[in-house]
Amino acid sequence: MQFHLNGFQPGDPDKHAAGDQSTRAHVLPGETDVLIVGCGPAGLCLAAQLAAYPEISSVIVEKKSGPMEKGQADGLNVRSMEMFQAFGSAQKVMRESLWINETTFWAPMREDPAKIHRVGRVQDVEDGLSEMPHVLLNQGRVHDMFLDLMKNAATGLEPFYDHGFETLTIDADASDYPVRAVLSCTDENGEAQEKTLKARYVVGCDGARSNVRKAIGGELHGDSANQAWGVMDVLAVTDFPDIRMKSIIQSHKDGNILVLPREGGYLVRLYVELDKLNENERVANRDFTVDHMISAANRIFSPFSIDVKDVVWWSIYEIGHRLTDKFDDVPSDQTATRTPRVFTAGDACHTHSPKAGQGMNVSMGDTFNLGWKLISVLTGRAAPDLLHSYSDERRDAARGLVEFDHTWSRVVGASGESASTQSGDMPHFQRAFINNGRFTAGLTIKYQPSTLTGDATGQALATGFDIGMRFHSSPVVRLADAMPMHLGHAARADASWRIILFAPAKDPLSVDGSFQKLCDFLEADPASPLKLYTPAGADPDAVINLHAVFQQHFRDVEIGDLPAVLLPRKGRFGLIDYENVFCADHRDEQDIFDLRGVDRDKGCVVIVRPDQHVANILPLEDHKGLAEYFANILLPVADK
Ligand SMILES: Cc1cc2nc3c(=O)[nH]c(=O)nc-3n(C[C@H](O)[C@H](O)[C@H](O)COP(=O)(O)OP(=O)(O)OC[C@H]3O[C@@H](n4cnc5c(N)ncnc54)[C@H](O)[C@@H]3O)c2cc1C
Repeated sequence: MQFHLNGFQPGDPDKHAAGDQSTRAHVLPGETDVLIVGCGPAGLCLAAQLAAYPEISSVIVEKKSGPMEKGQADGLNVRSMEMFQAFGSAQKVMRESLWINETTFWAPMREDPAKIHRVGRVQDVEDGLSEMPHVLLNQGRVHDMFLDLMKNAATGLEPFYDHGFETLTIDADASDYPVRAVLSCTDENGEAQEKTLKARYVVGCDGARSNVRKAIGGELHGDSANQAWGVMDVLAVTDFPDIRMKSIIQSHKDGNILVLPREGGYLVRLYVELDKLNENERVANRDFTVDHMISAANRIFSPFSIDVKDVVWWSIYEIGHRLTDKFDDVPSDQTATRTPRVFTAGDACHTHSPKAGQGMNVSMGDTFNLGWKLISVLTGRAAPDLLHSYSDERRDAARGLVEFDHTWSRVVGASGESASTQSGDMPHFQRAFINNGRFTAGLTIKYQPSTLTGDATGQALATGFDIGMRFHSSPVVRLADAMPMHLGHAARADASWRIILFAPAKDPLSVDGSFQKLCDFLEADPASPLKLYTPAGADPDAVINLHAVFQQHFRDVEIGDLPAVLLPRKGRFGLIDYENVFCADHRDEQDIFDLRGVDRDKGCVVIVRPDQHVANILPLEDHKGLAEYFANILLPVADK
């Protein structure tokens, strides 16, 4: 991490000096740039991004009286962990969470179907998919992480608890704060109170029963599997040997269980299949209790048993697979004439079974996509029509999730009789688990060609960086201090772009070479994106970070030979930022050029979006293409 840029900063570098709220009153303002409704993973992930921008005002409201402590989701896939790395929180989460390394599969014994036995096991995340682990952690602790980021950021943003969002109206003619939101709360005497707040943008992260979605006329469409499931987080004693492994258990006649060991070494979560529901029957109408769940668990676990000592949290739910028709307030036939003012994200747009562990991940993914777009528009870097891309991109991602969830629920909910246990045969549910590994890891989202995402023209220059998909990190060595690290970890969740120059093998720094010529263009040409979009007085990497990766060993590249544009001068002292230049790691087959199929002769340019997705790949010679890419998205500083 980088700090002390503008002078020595004593104390915790994670705490922004300007963020201390201890002397400021926490009073709801009359107007704000962004109103976020709901302190779940979607709302907090958005708030954490906005909080770093003092020039953007944000308010986040939550109808509950305080932060969540337990329950709900716990799965963090590798993609979310990659995102946490950009927030600077991945190490903390890795330390506290439970890592899922292996998944085991249990089915009825052939000779005695009332008893289960282990029929398969598999490494949970395929080697090479990501440098990050798949982990489990209480959703409340994920919230705490974002709340800390908000509090420690430049704005010291904190939620307004006990504030429920009721409804909103949009005044299409108002230029400043066109959305008027109505909130409900209680005054100091406990009397119900109504408050109004004007906002430029409202983001409904208010869960499956979203009032924001209703206010813009959205509905969830889909179906229900008419199946009741229970979930409980327990402290228990059991002779089931895989209680510290993720285990999928299919019994003969008593239903199925998903075992998820949890952080701390003792806690365990069990998803337990309960009864079939009748058509249109709601689970609330049945009188299921935690004792039903514990009894069902013991039947399914047979010949093993589980003695539950403490139930920390439990819930009963039915599986529904639903998707909203609107991720923003603009009807599809009006996108040419209107830009969005109201968005929905997370469970407000899509609901699915918890067993694939996607809810928290996809919800954060929604607002990681929206956050940089809102920041770009509110800081004047981009025109408001950029905001249309949120709905376009995330509706496709959500549709894929809901379709997958249908299939996966059937696999997990199938009876043990259908799990093939013949010797040598891989059980159906194990094969399905392996086939879906990339999806559940969160790595299959691919944004389609658009203004933001290039087509496949340049793909051959770096076959391992899939255009439209998340940037697949790889080891490198930072040139200036020989630090072995991951290239992807140079990215920060700060709404900035990355242009990564992969240098050709031969004479990369020769004056006539494509690499040097591109650096000259970026440094001095009036059409350079670095010149056009960096505000006067801002650091050169305020909007676009330039990185370079050489094929040579780090001992064979001289810092003094580098083009100046790779050593930007920053802050009030004009200090040099040395952390933008990397070399391939020549140890243990870790060379990024091999791992990601980068053309060694030609090199290439990889543009990475602020949300870590690969935007485009271009030849080093294509200065015009690079300039055009950004010209279609960002507004030149001079035009503002
Ligand atoms: C009871 C419950 C149990 C769950 N159990 C599991 C599980 O076992 N496993 C799993 O993977 N997933 C589970 N989930 C789903 C998972 O928690 C979600 O997918 C994930 O949290 C989605 O994040 P989100 O931010 O979109 O919404 P949420 O986490 O639902 O957050 C929405 C927030 O908005 C607040 N809110 C709602 N309406 C208003 C309003 N009008 N005004 C202000 N605030 C409002 C809510 O209080 C809540 O804090 C569960 C969800 C619920 C509700």
